[in-house]
Amino acid sequence: MSARGFKGKMVIFTAPSGAGKTTIVRHLLKRYKNQIGFSTSATTRVMRDHEIDGKDYYFLTAEKFRQKISEGAFAEYEEVYQDQFYGTLKSEIERIWSLGKHIIFDMEVKGATNIKNMYADDCLAVFIKPPSFSILVERLKNRKSETQSSLTKRIARMKKELSYESSFDKVLVNDLLAVACKEAEIMIELFLNISEEEE
Ligand code: 5GP
Repeated sequence: MSARGFKGKMVIFTAPSGAGKTTIVRHLLKRYKNQIGFSTSATTRVMRDHEIDGKDYYFLTAEKFRQKISEGAFAEYEEVYQDQFYGTLKSEIERIWSLGKHIIFDMEVKGATNIKNMYADDCLAVFIKPPSFSILVERLKNRKSETQSSLTKRIARMKKELSYESSFDKVLVNDLLAVACKEAEIMIELFLNISEEEE
């Protein structure tokens, strides 16, 4: 909680990779930029071309990440793929709340479950579902960010992740992106008690 008595809440968007959660999260951050802040995770994975350190992720070495684990700096962390760690820093949660903003997360299903269990009623966990498994595979391939071996790993993980749907507060089917974005707006406006900002 911030000094001004602001009671921050959080909304997690979770989904198998390729279900469109990052696009939906970006849309919401633009629309409610003064009221919500993005929780930038720490990761040990390699930075992609368009990514910015400190914005998309805090890119850490495996050693630094391990050090932070031992210091108890993470609210949650997961080895999402072999030797690729992702985690939410407690300092990041405090940083955003201290700005008087609610927090929005983009996270895989296990981390989402952990944060939901920790923050319970102050947290809305939304599972984004692709219209079908084959569409999900297609989207992931089109992204062209993966090698053949990382693609195989991601597809295996996606199958498992799709079975977690029932663990979350809301399910949002991302068939038409514009419709999914609108539904996401309604969900967070209701939960956070916020409204659209002037352009
Ligand atoms: P990507 O490598 O595609 O950016 O992310 C891989 C997966 O890790 C995605 O499902 C993403 O949402 C998830 N992820 C990102 N940050 C975190 C985090 O802080 N904790 C957990 N558990 N997963 C995360």
